Amino acid sequence: MQECRFILLGATGDLALRKIFPALYRASLSGLKPNITACARSPLSTPEFLDKLSTKAKEYIKDLDPKAWADFAANISYTPLDFNKPEDFKALKSTHPNTIIYFSIAPAFFAKACQKLAAVGLNAPNIKIVLEKPLGTNLQSCKDICAQIGKHFKEEQIYRIDHYLGKQSVQNLFYLRHNNPFLAGLLSAHYLDHVQISVLETLGVESRGGFYDPMGALRDMLQNHMLAMLALSTIPANTPTEHTRQAKLEMLRSLKPLNQESLKSQVVRGQYMAGGGFKGYTEEEQVNPHSQTETFVALKLELEHQNWQGVPFYLRTGKRMGASLVQVVFVFKGPPQALVYTIQPQCSLELQLQGMGALKSTLDSGMDAYERLILEVVAGNQSPFNHQDELEAAWRFVDPILQSWQENLTPLLPYAAGSFGPKAAFDLLKQDNREWFVHV
Ligand code: NAP
Repeated sequence: MQECRFILLGATGDLALRKIFPALYRASLSGLKPNITACARSPLSTPEFLDKLSTKAKEYIKDLDPKAWADFAANISYTPLDFNKPEDFKALKSTHPNTIIYFSIAPAFFAKACQKLAAVGLNAPNIKIVLEKPLGTNLQSCKDICAQIGKHFKEEQIYRIDHYLGKQSVQNLFYLRHNNPFLAGLLSAHYLDHVQISVLETLGVESRGGFYDPMGALRDMLQNHMLAMLALSTIPANTPTEHTRQAKLEMLRSLKPLNQESLKSQVVRGQYMAGGGFKGYTEEEQVNPHSQTETFVALKLELEHQNWQGVPFYLRTGKRMGASLVQVVFVFKGPPQALVYTIQPQCSLELQLQGMGALKSTLDSGMDAYERLILEVVAGNQSPFNHQDELEAAWRFVDPILQSWQENLTPLLPYAAGSFGPKAAFDLLKQDNREWFVHV
């Protein structure tokens, strides 16, 4: 039984109720004993909060065991806390050597919360903080927010979460090669023609229009999840596991900056129009009817890294696509044709052989990402979390794209809901005599 003290800010919020409490509960079934202080602005008593939490738990936790839930809930108390009221923070105390403070709150509150926690001594070196994304909306805002947090907490105390990095299926982009040296040899510049990374969703923005409209596909998916997948797919296979974070940073720093010419010829942005019974993006709830936000982006990039000379990477992500799919395709120069690693809808590995069809293996996608990441925080392992330098390197690559769009260097192209994006996304590969490997 491993004990820890867990202070959850934003405990009444959607993420806390839907993901974090269920993850803590599941972790408790496998031996973690968290003593939890749930905090939010609502003036609730502990029994009132637990009532609300139990109702949500029944909704969000499959196979909830009432006895195990009662044991878990017995270690939860609720403390009302408003970030605008410094006196509220005096109620928060922890002397536990393994104290975790989870910020499941809007990033606009991060600086204020850090400053108030520090004022009551809750930034001592044993305290770890977990920060939800998004950390900034461009390079400068990312630097600003990190600087504010850095005034009170050291890098080794900070766990910047990207739940994508908690998925074993995503981590396997490295471990497949790390544990199987023959694959590492095959998935190299010597044999590869190019690599494709697709994150496609059939869903539109649903009820998240208010959140999505100021973000768009580039910030919501590509800057964080997809560049992380790219980094995990390209770090040297023999990287010791404790050095993966440094190796990912090296890859992100090697992203070849896009210039005026490549921003025009290598980046495509699109927005879905009504079609197939679906509304167009600008007709969605809480979306500006004149919105210029992209719901699709495709781009070609290169790594200025000795291991990846001459291997272009094509990335695409979009909403209201013809299929839901998260996939990395390593396309070879000659037979075998391709190695297809699918993360969603089901984790699988497929080797496409010349004249022989495919060898396919379905892999188990394993433990829930939030549970895994919480256990990593408890263990003090920062590898599956973003270092500030990684975030900055990713923003440094993405910033010029955002800027070029603000200057209307390339048009926002319409595409029909249920398609695979604008024609220009297909031309992006066609001009290189290649094509997207749509494999569902
Ligand atoms: P949410 O549903 O709006 O919840 C926000 C929480 O913050 C509530 O518990 C709220 O308390 C609390 N809060 C608001 N103002 C406060 C104040 N002045 N003082 C103290 N507490 C205050 O947000 P969410 O969807 O859970 O998202 C939380 C964070 O996770 C955000 O950073 C978001 O970007 C990130 N995230 C969310 C998701 C998701 O699926 N929801 C996914 C990835 C990342 P009251 O309700 O009691 O007022």
